[in-house]
Amino acid sequence: MSLITEAKKGNLTEEMKLVAADERVEPEFVRRGLANGRIVIPVSPYRYTKPCGIGKGLRTKVNASIGTSSDIVDIDMEIEKAKVAEATGADTLMELSTGGDFYDIRKKVIDSTTLSVGSVPLYQAFIESIRKYGSAVDMKEDELFRITAEQAKLGTNFMAIHTGINLLTVERLKRQGRFGGLCSRGGAFMTAWMLHNEKENPLYSEFDYLLEIMKEHEVTLSMGNGMRAGAIHDSTDRAQIQELIMNSELSDRAHEAGVQTIVEGPGHIPIDEIDANVKLMKRLSGEKPFYMLGPLVTDIAPGYDHIVAAIGASISSASGADFICYVTPAEHLALPNIEDVKQGVITARIAAHIGDMVKNNDRERDLNMGRARRDLQWGRMFELAIDPAHAKSVRDSRSPADEEACTMCGNYCALKIVKQSFNFER
Ligand code: SF4
Repeated sequence: MSLITEAKKGNLTEEMKLVAADERVEPEFVRRGLANGRIVIPVSPYRYTKPCGIGKGLRTKVNASIGTSSDIVDIDMEIEKAKVAEATGADTLMELSTGGDFYDIRKKVIDSTTLSVGSVPLYQAFIESIRKYGSAVDMKEDELFRITAEQAKLGTNFMAIHTGINLLTVERLKRQGRFGGLCSRGGAFMTAWMLHNEKENPLYSEFDYLLEIMKEHEVTLSMGNGMRAGAIHDSTDRAQIQELIMNSELSDRAHEAGVQTIVEGPGHIPIDEIDANVKLMKRLSGEKPFYMLGPLVTDIAPGYDHIVAAIGASISSASGADFICYVTPAEHLALPNIEDVKQGVITARIAAHIGDMVKNNDRERDLNMGRARRDLQWGRMFELAIDPAHAKSVRDSRSPADEEACTMCGNYCALKIVKQSFNFER
Protein backbone atom coordinates (compact mmCIF):
# COMPACT_ATOMS: atom_id res chain seq x y z
CA MET A 1 0.00 0.00 0.00
CA SER A 2 1.39 3.46 -0.90
CA LEU A 3 2.30 6.00 1.77
CA ILE A 4 -0.56 8.28 0.68
CA THR A 5 -3.05 5.41 0.95
CA GLU A 6 -1.74 4.51 4.42
CA ALA A 7 -1.88 8.16 5.48
CA LYS A 8 -5.43 8.60 4.16
CA LYS A 9 -6.52 5.50 6.07
CA GLY A 10 -5.09 7.00 9.25
CA ASN A 11 -2.18 4.54 9.50
CA LEU A 12 1.19 5.65 10.84
CA THR A 13 4.07 3.95 9.01
CA GLU A 14 7.67 3.58 10.13
CA GLU A 15 8.72 6.27 7.61
CA MET A 16 6.24 8.76 9.07
CA LYS A 17 7.47 8.05 12.61
CA LEU A 18 11.14 8.40 11.63
CA VAL A 19 10.53 11.69 9.80
CA ALA A 20 8.54 13.00 12.78
CA ALA A 21 11.35 12.10 15.20
CA ASP A 22 13.96 13.72 12.96
CA GLU A 23 11.90 16.90 12.61
CA ARG A 24 10.74 16.98 16.23
CA VAL A 25 7.05 17.08 15.27
CA GLU A 26 4.21 14.71 16.09
CA PRO A 27 3.88 11.64 13.80
CA GLU A 28 0.25 12.62 13.32
CA PHE A 29 1.39 15.94 11.83
CA VAL A 30 3.44 14.07 9.21
CA ARG A 31 0.58 11.65 8.50
CA ARG A 32 -1.87 14.51 7.96
CA GLY A 33 0.63 16.29 5.68
CA LEU A 34 0.97 13.16 3.53
CA ALA A 35 -2.78 12.65 3.42
CA ASN A 36 -3.48 16.20 2.26
CA GLY A 37 -0.50 16.41 -0.13
CA ARG A 38 1.48 19.02 1.81
CA ILE A 39 4.29 16.62 2.76
CA VAL A 40 6.05 13.90 0.77
CA ILE A 41 8.48 11.19 1.82
CA PRO A 42 10.13 9.87 -1.38
CA VAL A 43 10.49 6.11 -0.90
CA SER A 44 11.20 3.14 -3.17
CA PRO A 45 9.98 -0.46 -2.86
CA TYR A 46 13.29 -1.59 -4.40
CA ARG A 47 15.82 -0.42 -1.79
CA TYR A 48 16.30 1.02 1.69
CA THR A 49 16.37 4.83 1.81
CA LYS A 50 16.84 7.06 4.83
CA PRO A 51 13.35 8.62 5.11
CA CYS A 52 13.36 12.31 4.23
CA GLY A 53 10.24 14.42 4.74
CA ILE A 54 9.75 17.40 2.45
CA GLY A 55 6.96 19.91 2.91
CA LYS A 56 5.02 22.27 5.10
CA GLY A 57 6.17 22.58 8.70
CA LEU A 58 9.38 20.60 8.10
CA ARG A 59 13.01 21.72 7.77
CA THR A 60 13.93 22.97 4.27
CA LYS A 61 15.69 20.16 2.43
CA VAL A 62 18.71 20.43 0.12
CA ASN A 63 19.20 18.45 -3.07
CA ALA A 64 22.60 17.91 -4.69
CA SER A 65 22.55 17.13 -8.41
CA ILE A 66 25.39 15.06 -9.82
CA GLY A 67 25.98 13.12 -13.03
CA THR A 68 28.19 12.78 -16.08
CA SER A 69 28.08 14.96 -19.18
CA SER A 70 28.73 14.11 -22.82
CA ASP A 71 32.26 15.52 -22.35
CA ILE A 72 33.21 14.02 -18.98
CA VAL A 73 32.24 10.46 -18.08
CA ASP A 74 34.02 9.48 -14.86
CA ILE A 75 31.89 7.05 -12.85
CA ASP A 76 34.31 6.94 -9.91
CA MET A 77 34.11 10.72 -9.63
CA GLU A 78 30.29 10.60 -9.69
CA ILE A 79 30.25 7.98 -6.92
CA GLU A 80 32.65 10.12 -4.91
CA LYS A 81 30.44 13.17 -5.50
CA ALA A 82 27.45 11.18 -4.17
CA LYS A 83 29.41 10.20 -1.06
CA VAL A 84 30.72 13.73 -0.46
CA ALA A 85 27.22 15.20 -0.91
CA GLU A 86 25.81 12.78 1.68
CA ALA A 87 28.71 13.33 4.10
CA THR A 88 28.37 17.12 3.76
CA GLY A 89 24.68 16.98 4.68
CA ALA A 90 22.66 16.90 1.44
CA ASP A 91 19.16 15.52 2.05
CA THR A 92 18.64 14.08 -1.44
CA LEU A 93 20.62 13.44 -4.62
CA MET A 94 19.62 13.81 -8.24
CA GLU A 95 21.51 11.61 -10.69
CA LEU A 96 21.37 13.54 -13.95
CA SER A 97 23.93 11.84 -16.18
CA THR A 98 23.85 12.69 -19.86
CA GLY A 99 26.98 10.76 -20.91
CA GLY A 100 28.08 7.10 -20.72
CA ASP A 101 26.01 4.03 -19.83
CA PHE A 102 22.95 5.42 -18.03
CA TYR A 103 21.92 2.16 -16.37
CA ASP A 104 25.40 1.38 -15.05
CA ILE A 105 26.06 4.89 -13.69
CA ARG A 106 22.67 5.22 -12.02
CA LYS A 107 22.88 1.78 -10.43
CA LYS A 108 26.34 2.45 -9.03
CA VAL A 109 25.33 5.86 -7.65
CA ILE A 110 22.16 4.44 -6.08
CA ASP A 111 24.16 1.58 -4.54
CA SER A 112 26.58 4.09 -2.99
CA THR A 113 24.06 6.11 -0.97
CA THR A 114 21.19 5.82 1.50
CA LEU A 115 19.76 9.16 0.37
CA SER A 116 16.64 9.43 -1.77
CA VAL A 117 17.73 9.66 -5.39
CA GLY A 118 15.94 11.55 -8.14
CA SER A 119 16.24 11.40 -11.91
CA VAL A 120 14.95 12.98 -15.12
CA PRO A 121 13.90 10.10 -17.44
CA LEU A 122 13.47 12.55 -20.31
CA TYR A 123 17.25 13.08 -20.54
CA GLN A 124 17.92 9.41 -21.10
CA ALA A 125 15.02 9.06 -23.57
CA PHE A 126 16.18 11.96 -25.73
CA ILE A 127 19.89 11.11 -25.60
CA GLU A 128 19.24 7.44 -26.43
CA SER A 129 17.16 8.70 -29.37
CA ILE A 130 20.11 10.81 -30.55
CA ARG A 131 22.38 7.76 -30.23
CA LYS A 132 19.93 5.44 -32.03
CA TYR A 133 18.25 7.66 -34.62
CA GLY A 134 20.62 10.62 -34.83
CA SER A 135 18.08 13.12 -33.50
CA ALA A 136 16.20 13.96 -30.27
CA VAL A 137 13.04 14.82 -32.20
CA ASP A 138 12.78 11.17 -33.30
CA MET A 139 12.35 10.00 -29.72
CA LYS A 140 9.60 7.34 -29.50
CA GLU A 141 6.92 7.92 -26.90
CA ASP A 142 6.93 4.27 -25.77
CA GLU A 143 10.65 4.51 -25.10
CA LEU A 144 10.09 7.43 -22.75
CA PHE A 145 7.62 5.44 -20.63
CA ARG A 146 9.79 2.29 -20.76
CA ILE A 147 12.80 4.26 -19.48
CA THR A 148 10.68 5.84 -16.74
CA ALA A 149 9.65 2.40 -15.45
CA GLU A 150 13.21 1.05 -15.83
CA GLN A 151 14.68 3.90 -13.77
CA ALA A 152 11.99 3.36 -11.11
CA LYS A 153 12.94 -0.32 -10.80
CA LEU A 154 16.53 0.69 -10.11
CA GLY A 155 15.36 2.26 -6.84
CA THR A 156 14.82 5.86 -7.96
CA ASN A 157 12.72 7.66 -5.33
CA PHE A 158 11.58 10.75 -7.22
CA MET A 159 11.54 11.91 -10.80
CA ALA A 160 11.43 15.33 -12.37
CA ILE A 161 8.86 14.93 -15.14
CA HIS A 162 8.10 17.74 -17.56
CA THR A 163 4.31 17.43 -17.52
CA GLY A 164 3.37 21.11 -17.70
CA ILE A 165 4.82 21.83 -21.13
CA ASN A 166 1.91 21.39 -23.49
CA LEU A 167 0.82 22.95 -26.76
CA LEU A 168 -0.76 25.84 -24.87
CA THR A 169 2.44 26.58 -22.93
CA VAL A 170 4.55 26.41 -26.08
CA GLU A 171 2.11 28.69 -27.92
CA ARG A 172 2.40 31.18 -25.06
CA LEU A 173 6.20 31.00 -25.32
CA LYS A 174 6.13 31.57 -29.09
CA ARG A 175 3.76 34.52 -28.75
CA GLN A 176 5.74 36.36 -26.08
CA GLY A 177 9.32 35.41 -27.11
CA ARG A 178 12.20 35.10 -24.70
CA PHE A 179 15.41 37.02 -24.16
CA GLY A 180 17.43 34.11 -22.74
CA GLY A 181 15.54 31.03 -24.01
CA LEU A 182 15.03 28.02 -21.74
CA CYS A 183 17.59 26.75 -19.24
CA SER A 184 15.87 23.40 -18.65
CA ARG A 185 17.43 20.65 -20.79
CA GLY A 186 14.26 18.58 -20.51
CA GLY A 187 12.12 21.60 -21.38
CA ALA A 188 14.25 22.48 -24.40
CA PHE A 189 14.25 18.87 -25.71
CA MET A 190 10.51 18.44 -25.24
CA THR A 191 9.62 21.79 -26.81
CA ALA A 192 11.75 20.94 -29.87
CA TRP A 193 10.11 17.47 -30.08
CA MET A 194 6.58 18.92 -29.91
CA LEU A 195 7.26 21.59 -32.53
CA HIS A 196 8.96 19.14 -34.91
CA ASN A 197 6.33 16.42 -34.59
CA GLU A 198 3.39 18.82 -34.20
CA LYS A 199 2.20 16.65 -31.32
CA GLU A 200 1.20 17.09 -27.72
CA ASN A 201 3.76 16.30 -25.00
CA PRO A 202 3.11 12.60 -24.21
CA LEU A 203 3.79 13.25 -20.53
CA TYR A 204 0.77 15.57 -20.61
CA SER A 205 -1.51 13.68 -23.03
CA GLU A 206 -0.75 10.30 -21.38
CA PHE A 207 -0.65 11.65 -17.85
CA ASP A 208 -2.87 8.87 -16.47
CA TYR A 209 -0.51 6.24 -17.87
CA LEU A 210 2.43 8.10 -16.33
CA LEU A 211 0.59 8.05 -12.98
CA GLU A 212 0.08 4.29 -13.26
CA ILE A 213 3.86 3.83 -13.58
CA MET A 214 4.56 6.21 -10.70
CA LYS A 215 2.01 4.43 -8.53
CA GLU A 216 3.13 0.92 -9.40
CA HIS A 217 6.74 1.72 -8.42
CA GLU A 218 5.86 4.25 -5.70
CA VAL A 219 7.90 7.04 -7.25
CA THR A 220 7.35 10.61 -6.06
CA LEU A 221 6.48 12.88 -8.97
CA SER A 222 8.41 16.15 -9.10
CA MET A 223 6.60 18.28 -11.68
CA GLY A 224 9.42 19.81 -13.71
CA ASN A 225 9.64 23.47 -14.58
CA GLY A 226 10.68 23.12 -18.22
CA MET A 227 9.71 26.70 -19.05
CA ARG A 228 11.87 28.25 -16.37
CA ALA A 229 13.76 31.27 -17.62
CA GLY A 230 17.49 31.05 -18.28
CA ALA A 231 17.96 34.76 -17.73
CA ILE A 232 16.73 37.15 -15.03
CA HIS A 233 15.27 39.33 -17.77
CA ASP A 234 12.62 36.66 -18.55
CA SER A 235 11.65 35.79 -14.98
CA THR A 236 8.01 35.22 -13.98
CA ASP A 237 6.78 35.54 -17.57
CA ARG A 238 3.55 34.21 -19.05
CA ALA A 239 5.03 30.91 -20.27
CA GLN A 240 6.40 30.10 -16.82
CA ILE A 241 3.11 30.94 -15.10
CA GLN A 242 1.18 28.96 -17.73
CA GLU A 243 3.28 25.91 -16.90
CA LEU A 244 2.81 26.46 -13.17
CA ILE A 245 -0.98 26.48 -13.66
CA MET A 246 -0.79 23.23 -15.68
CA ASN A 247 1.47 21.58 -13.13
CA SER A 248 -0.76 22.67 -10.24
CA GLU A 249 -3.82 21.11 -11.90
CA LEU A 250 -1.93 17.91 -12.65
CA SER A 251 -0.52 17.77 -9.12
CA ASP A 252 -4.09 17.48 -7.79
CA ARG A 253 -4.78 14.61 -10.18
CA ALA A 254 -1.56 12.89 -9.12
CA HIS A 255 -2.40 13.23 -5.44
CA GLU A 256 -5.92 11.90 -5.98
CA ALA A 257 -4.39 8.91 -7.79
CA GLY A 258 -2.19 8.20 -4.74
CA VAL A 259 1.08 9.58 -6.17
CA GLN A 260 3.17 11.82 -3.93
CA THR A 261 3.83 15.12 -5.69
CA ILE A 262 6.27 18.03 -5.58
CA VAL A 263 6.03 21.09 -7.84
CA GLU A 264 9.21 22.71 -9.16
CA GLY A 265 9.82 26.46 -9.30
CA PRO A 266 11.95 28.86 -11.31
CA GLY A 267 15.73 29.05 -11.73
CA HIS A 268 16.70 32.66 -12.58
CA ILE A 269 14.64 35.29 -10.75
CA PRO A 270 15.32 38.63 -9.00
CA ILE A 271 14.83 38.73 -5.25
CA ASP A 272 11.76 41.00 -5.38
CA GLU A 273 9.83 38.31 -7.30
CA ILE A 274 10.68 35.34 -5.08
CA ASP A 275 8.01 35.77 -2.43
CA ALA A 276 5.26 36.22 -5.06
CA ASN A 277 6.42 33.08 -6.91
CA VAL A 278 6.37 30.97 -3.76
CA LYS A 279 2.99 32.26 -2.59
CA LEU A 280 1.41 31.90 -6.04
CA MET A 281 2.67 28.33 -6.38
CA LYS A 282 1.45 27.39 -2.91
CA ARG A 283 -1.96 28.95 -3.56
CA LEU A 284 -2.42 27.33 -6.99
CA SER A 285 -1.22 23.89 -5.97
CA GLY A 286 -3.03 23.58 -2.65
CA GLU A 287 0.28 23.93 -0.76
CA LYS A 288 2.10 21.02 -2.35
CA PRO A 289 5.82 20.85 -1.48
CA PHE A 290 7.68 23.49 -3.52
CA TYR A 291 11.08 22.73 -5.00
CA MET A 292 13.07 25.85 -5.85
CA LEU A 293 15.98 25.41 -8.29
CA GLY A 294 18.50 27.79 -6.77
CA PRO A 295 17.17 30.31 -7.62
CA LEU A 296 19.88 32.52 -9.10
CA VAL A 297 19.17 36.15 -8.28
CA THR A 298 21.68 37.76 -10.64
CA ASP A 299 23.25 36.57 -13.90
CA ILE A 300 26.62 38.31 -13.59
CA ALA A 301 28.55 36.20 -11.08
CA PRO A 302 29.76 33.01 -12.80
CA GLY A 303 32.24 31.28 -10.51
CA TYR A 304 30.23 32.43 -7.48
CA ASP A 305 26.80 31.15 -8.45
CA HIS A 306 26.65 28.96 -5.32
CA ILE A 307 26.58 32.21 -3.31
CA VAL A 308 24.09 33.85 -5.70
CA ALA A 309 21.80 30.83 -5.40
CA ALA A 310 22.16 30.75 -1.61
CA ILE A 311 20.85 34.31 -1.42
CA GLY A 312 17.86 33.29 -3.55
CA ALA A 313 17.34 30.03 -1.68
CA SER A 314 17.35 31.68 1.75
CA ILE A 315 14.61 34.13 0.67
CA SER A 316 12.67 31.30 -1.02
CA SER A 317 12.84 29.15 2.08
CA ALA A 318 11.81 32.05 4.32
CA SER A 319 8.82 32.62 1.98
CA GLY A 320 7.73 28.98 2.22
CA ALA A 321 9.75 26.89 -0.29
CA ASP A 322 10.29 23.41 1.12
CA PHE A 323 13.09 21.99 -0.98
CA ILE A 324 16.00 23.72 -2.68
CA CYS A 325 18.39 22.48 -5.31
CA TYR A 326 21.99 23.43 -4.67
CA VAL A 327 24.05 25.33 -7.21
CA THR A 328 27.81 24.82 -7.35
CA PRO A 329 30.60 27.34 -8.10
CA ALA A 330 30.95 25.63 -11.50
CA GLU A 331 27.39 26.55 -12.61
CA HIS A 332 27.34 27.90 -16.18
CA LEU A 333 31.07 27.13 -16.48
CA ALA A 334 31.85 23.39 -16.25
CA LEU A 335 30.78 20.00 -14.91
CA PRO A 336 31.13 20.27 -11.11
CA ASN A 337 34.03 18.41 -9.48
CA ILE A 338 34.06 16.94 -5.97
CA GLU A 339 35.08 20.21 -4.26
CA ASP A 340 32.35 22.09 -6.18
CA VAL A 341 29.78 19.59 -4.86
CA LYS A 342 30.99 20.12 -1.30
CA GLN A 343 30.82 23.91 -1.64
CA GLY A 344 27.40 23.68 -3.25
CA VAL A 345 25.94 21.54 -0.46
CA ILE A 346 27.37 23.68 2.35
CA THR A 347 26.17 26.98 0.88
CA ALA A 348 22.71 25.53 0.17
CA ARG A 349 22.49 24.18 3.73
CA ILE A 350 23.36 27.62 5.09
CA ALA A 351 20.61 29.13 2.90
CA ALA A 352 18.07 26.51 3.97
CA HIS A 353 18.82 27.18 7.63
CA ILE A 354 18.54 30.97 7.19
CA GLY A 355 15.11 30.40 5.65
CA ASP A 356 14.07 28.02 8.42
CA MET A 357 14.96 30.63 11.04
CA VAL A 358 12.10 32.70 9.61
CA LYS A 359 9.74 30.02 8.27
CA ASN A 360 9.91 27.62 11.22
CA ASN A 361 11.39 29.94 13.87
CA ASP A 362 14.28 27.47 14.07
CA ARG A 363 16.78 29.49 16.12
CA GLU A 364 17.96 27.23 18.91
CA ARG A 365 21.29 26.41 17.32
CA ASP A 366 21.96 30.12 16.70
CA LEU A 367 21.14 30.88 20.33
CA ASN A 368 23.57 28.20 21.48
CA MET A 369 26.25 29.54 19.13
CA GLY A 370 25.71 33.03 20.53
CA ARG A 371 26.24 31.70 24.05
CA ALA A 372 29.32 29.70 23.07
CA ARG A 373 30.84 32.79 21.38
CA ARG A 374 30.07 34.98 24.37
CA ASP A 375 31.81 32.46 26.63
CA LEU A 376 34.71 31.85 24.18
CA GLN A 377 33.99 28.10 24.15
CA TRP A 378 35.82 27.20 20.97
CA GLY A 379 35.08 23.47 21.04
CA ARG A 380 31.36 24.14 21.42
CA MET A 381 31.47 26.70 18.59
CA PHE A 382 32.99 24.10 16.25
CA GLU A 383 30.35 21.55 17.29
CA LEU A 384 27.56 23.98 16.38
CA ALA A 385 29.10 25.15 13.11
CA ILE A 386 27.58 23.98 9.81
CA ASP A 387 31.07 22.90 8.70
CA PRO A 388 33.01 22.18 11.93
CA ALA A 389 36.18 20.94 10.21
CA HIS A 390 36.47 24.07 8.09
CA ALA A 391 35.84 26.42 11.03
CA LYS A 392 38.50 24.63 13.10
CA SER A 393 41.03 24.59 10.29
CA VAL A 394 40.73 28.37 9.77
CA ARG A 395 41.35 29.03 13.47
CA ASP A 396 44.17 26.50 13.66
CA SER A 397 45.91 27.95 10.62
CA ARG A 398 46.35 31.26 12.47
CA SER A 399 46.81 30.24 16.12
CA PRO A 400 46.43 33.09 18.59
CA ALA A 401 48.99 34.00 21.30
CA ASP A 402 46.10 33.99 23.79
CA GLU A 403 44.25 30.67 23.47
CA GLU A 404 41.00 32.25 24.66
CA ALA A 405 40.83 34.85 21.87
CA CYS A 406 41.57 34.69 18.16
CA THR A 407 44.03 36.56 15.96
CA MET A 408 41.36 38.97 14.71
CA CYS A 409 41.64 41.28 17.76
CA GLY A 410 44.31 39.42 19.77
CA ASN A 411 44.93 41.23 23.11
CA TYR A 412 41.93 43.42 22.51
CA CYS A 413 39.34 40.66 22.28
CA ALA A 414 36.04 42.43 22.99
CA LEU A 415 34.40 39.25 24.23
CA LYS A 416 37.18 38.62 26.75
CA ILE A 417 37.02 42.19 28.02
CA VAL A 418 33.24 41.95 28.44
CA LYS A 419 33.56 38.54 30.12
CA GLN A 420 35.95 40.02 32.71
CA SER A 421 33.71 43.01 33.42
CA PHE A 422 30.14 41.71 33.22
CA ASN A 423 28.17 38.61 34.00
CA PHE A 424 25.85 37.97 31.07
CA GLU A 425 25.08 34.36 32.08
CA ARG A 426 21.67 33.38 30.71
S1 SF4 B 1 39.45 38.26 19.23
FE1 SF4 B 1 37.86 39.52 18.29
S2 SF4 B 1 37.03 38.20 16.68
FE2 SF4 B 1 38.25 36.88 17.99
S3 SF4 B 1 36.80 36.04 19.47
FE3 SF4 B 1 37.62 37.93 20.42
S4 SF4 B 1 36.18 39.53 19.80
FE4 SF4 B 1 35.77 37.76 18.47
